[in-house]
Amino acid sequence: KRVGFAIVGLGRLALEEILPAFGEAKKARPVALVSGSPDKARVVGEQYGIKPEALYDYASFDRIADNPEIEAVYIVLPNAMHREFVERAAKAGKHVLCEKPMATSSVDARAMTKACADAKVQLMIAYRCQYEPNNRAVQKLVRDGAMGAVKIVEATNTQVMGTGDQWRFRKELAGGGALPDIGLYCLNAARFLTGEEPTEVFARIRNPKDDPRYREVEETIAFTLVFPSGVIANCSSSYGAHENKDLRVHLEKGTIDLERAFAYEGQELKLSRRDGTAESIETKRLGQKNQFALELDHMAECLREGRRPRTPGEEGVQDHVIMEALYESTRSGAPVTLSAVSGLDSTR
Ligand code: NAD
Repeated sequence: KRVGFAIVGLGRLALEEILPAFGEAKKARPVALVSGSPDKARVVGEQYGIKPEALYDYASFDRIADNPEIEAVYIVLPNAMHREFVERAAKAGKHVLCEKPMATSSVDARAMTKACADAKVQLMIAYRCQYEPNNRAVQKLVRDGAMGAVKIVEATNTQVMGTGDQWRFRKELAGGGALPDIGLYCLNAARFLTGEEPTEVFARIRNPKDDPRYREVEETIAFTLVFPSGVIANCSSSYGAHENKDLRVHLEKGTIDLERAFAYEGQELKLSRRDGTAESIETKRLGQKNQFALELDHMAECLREGRRPRTPGEEGVQDHVIMEALYESTRSGAPVTLSAVSGLDSTR
């Protein structure tokens, strides 16, 4: 039987990506919606065959406890609201899938992990790229060692934001700008690929003058992560530069390019390496799979088998700890040292 999910927050991501992805999922199905707008919930509910009694608003949310069809809750709200709804979901005895960034601080992220552990429910962070086959193939290539040691990871996540006001420009709701929203993919990928935790980080922020969008949050950030094995990750993220979501890994014996690594689709994996004396360039075609469907099915599978998801809450906590060190570095202008011990188990 498919795992029943309640979707909390019917914004762009929920409507354009997550709800349609259930059509491609094999182990998960939407069974409830939670929205501040009853009209929207009704229309979307009809579209996805949700029972009228399974439509909730933020005030009636806790009644999900009485609906046995809901086994898991997918939180797709503005970042600062994640903690409240994760905690309320845990209290209702439901497993939780929470969108990235997990929260707006490591304190909140830790509290969310504890709330789910105390309630004995699973907590998974929606790091969709870790379920995407090309990103996983890069991890495998890096880890199997055939291309030698990794020297440099280059990760970029840029896009041009609209000029209209929205929660992403409000620090209170978003926690930060480009870094927690899209730069996080670069940080998370560097950790996912190497399986290591950075011990030193350095970051610089630049904001355009007189742009009201960047009064509270950063537009552009460049940051460096140094890993214990010596790998250096150079990451760049901006809300003001033409879209680029590429990942490149420089190893002793070759280069791995993953174009559009962090996009919803269109990944293109290319390997350049030396075979004896000849240089070879190979394009790998792994086909396109809906990463949201893969992520939902992973969570569903873990719940059915009583396993911990591959991207549990602790992963989100660690990213927040590192992002806080990056912000500290932007304020002091100096590198920040981190403990190599993260308390994470080796699920990655
Ligand atoms: P959005 O603005 O399109 O939707 C947010 C939803 O929350 C809306 O339905 C809105 O009505 C509701 N909401 C409730 N209280 C609100 C408040 N006080 N202010 C603003 N909105 C409020 O945002 P989105 O792009 O769908 O992002 C939602 C979450 O998903 C965020 O955490 C974001 O980081 C994450 N996200 C993840 C990905 C991904 O690829 N995994 C992509 C986009 C967004």
